[in-house]
Amino acid sequence: MKLYNTLTKKVEEFVPRNKNEVSMYTCGPTVYNYAHIGNLRTYIFEDILEKGLKYLGYNVKRVMNITDVGHLTSDGDTGEDKMLKGAKKEGKTPQELAKFYTEAFFNDLKKLNLKKPDLVEKATDHINDYIKVIEVLLEKDYAYKSNGNIYFDISKAKDYYKLSGKTSEDLIVGARSDVSFDNFKKNPYDFVLWFTKSKFEDQDQKWDSPFGVGYPGWHIECSTLASLYFGEYLDIHCGGVDNIFPHHTNEIAQSEAYFGHKWCNYWLHAEHLNDKNGKMSKSKGEFLTLKLLEEKGYNPLVYKYFCLGSHYRNQLLFSYDSLNVAKTSYEKLRKKTSSLKEDGKIDTEKVKFYKEKLKEAISSDLNTSQMLTCVYDALKDSLLNDNTKREIIKSYDEVLGLDLLEKDEKESVLSEKYILDKIKQRSEAKQNKNYDEADSIRDELLKQGVKLIDKVDKTEYEII
Ligand code: AMP
Ligand code: ZN
Repeated sequence: MKLYNTLTKKVEEFVPRNKNEVSMYTCGPTVYNYAHIGNLRTYIFEDILEKGLKYLGYNVKRVMNITDVGHLTSDGDTGEDKMLKGAKKEGKTPQELAKFYTEAFFNDLKKLNLKKPDLVEKATDHINDYIKVIEVLLEKDYAYKSNGNIYFDISKAKDYYKLSGKTSEDLIVGARSDVSFDNFKKNPYDFVLWFTKSKFEDQDQKWDSPFGVGYPGWHIECSTLASLYFGEYLDIHCGGVDNIFPHHTNEIAQSEAYFGHKWCNYWLHAEHLNDKNGKMSKSKGEFLTLKLLEEKGYNPLVYKYFCLGSHYRNQLLFSYDSLNVAKTSYEKLRKKTSSLKEDGKIDTEKVKFYKEKLKEAISSDLNTSQMLTCVYDALKDSLLNDNTKREIIKSYDEVLGLDLLEKDEKESVLSEKYILDKIKQRSEAKQNKNYDEADSIRDELLKQGVKLIDKVDKTEYEII
C-alpha cells in the first residue's frame, strides 16, 4: 500500500506498527452547523481509506471526535468559540446545538454509505482526560500559565514546523493575529491548552480544573482522545488540508511532548472542494449541504460518485454542471450494474483477477478514479457472464459504497417540486422577455433527463 504522507512529503510504503493492525484517527466535525459538502468530501476520502485498507486485509480500528467545545473561529486562539456563536445565533444551548448537528452529521454519513467510525467521542465527555494531559505538560515544562490561560510553549517542541513544512516567518505573514491576546504568549504560535480567562465573558460551557474554571483548547481534545484509545502510537491521522496548520501541527507538538517520542507515522490530508468563489465554507456563498442537493433532486450517491472521480490530493471544483455530468454517468452505470442477472456459473479465477485490480488501485495512494475504471472494465469484459460481473461489482461496492447492485426506483426522476419550480421560473422569465434565461432553464432540465413540452396554456414535462 502506497500512501502520500504529509509528514515526509513523499509517497511511501505503508507499514503499520503492528503487522496487520491499523490504528486510525480522523478529526470529526465541529457541530455548530450542518457539514457542507466540502467537509463531506474529506469524510468520503477517510471512509474509502478505511474500507480500502480492510480490502487489502488489514484490521482497522478508527476513532473520531465530535468537537462540541473549544474550536474558535480562527482555528487558533482568536475569535469566538464556534459552538457558542452558533448557539447564540439559533437561540439554543451549545448542548442542544451539538445534539442536533451531530445527528444531522450521522444522517449524512448514512446517506453516503459511509461507515460510522468504531468509536465516535464527544469532546465534552473527556474533560478530566485533557486536564491530566495538561498537568503532565506543565510538569514537563512544555506548558506555562499566562494571563490565566495555559499555553503550550512551541519553542520546546522538537521540529515544530515539520508537518506544514513552513517557517514561522511564512506563517506570520499569513496570520490573522489578535495582538492583545498574543501579548501573553512567549512565542506567537504558542497555543492555548486550557482557557480560563479570555475575552469571552459568557462562555457557558466551562468546567472546574486545577488551573481554574474554564474549557479546553481544540487541539488537546484530539491528541488526548487518540491516546485514550490507541495509547502511545498511532498509525494514521487524517483530516482536510486546512488541518495541517495549526491543528495537526499542534497535536504533534503536544502528543510528542507528552509521550517523549514520535507519535504518529502517517499523516494524510484531503484537498479542498472549492466553488467558484474559492474554498467552500459555511459562511460564504451558497451553503451547500447534502440536504440542499437532495432537495434539488440529487441522490447523495451522485455527489459521492462525483468526488470519487478525482484524486483526494487534487482540489476539486464544484459546479452544478459537473455534478450533472456525474449524475448522468452514475445513473447509467447503476442501471447497468443493477440489471446484471444472477444466472451462469461464477468464474472464481476471474473474480480473483478483478479483485487484484481493485487492490492495485487502492494501493496506488487510493486512486479512486482508477477504482471506478475497474468497475467499467469488469462490466465491458465480454468473457465474463453476468453472475461473475455481479460478484465482482458486489466486492468492489464494499469499498465504493455506491449501491451499484441496487435498483433505484427513483432513477433519474428529479423531485416533482423541483421541476415545477423550474417550470414556474421559466414562464416568469418568458413573461419578462428574458428568453436566454428561459432557454437555459429548459436546457438544464434536459441535461438532467427532463424534457419540457409547451402546450397552449401550460408547460408539461416528461422524464426521458
Ligand atoms: P470542521 O467541521 O470545520 O472541523 O471540518 C471538518 C473536516 O472538513 C475537517 O477535516 C476539515 O479539514 C475538512 N474541510 C473543511 N473545509 C473543507 C473543504 N472545503 N473541502 C474539503 N474538506 C474540508
Ligand atoms: Zn482534530
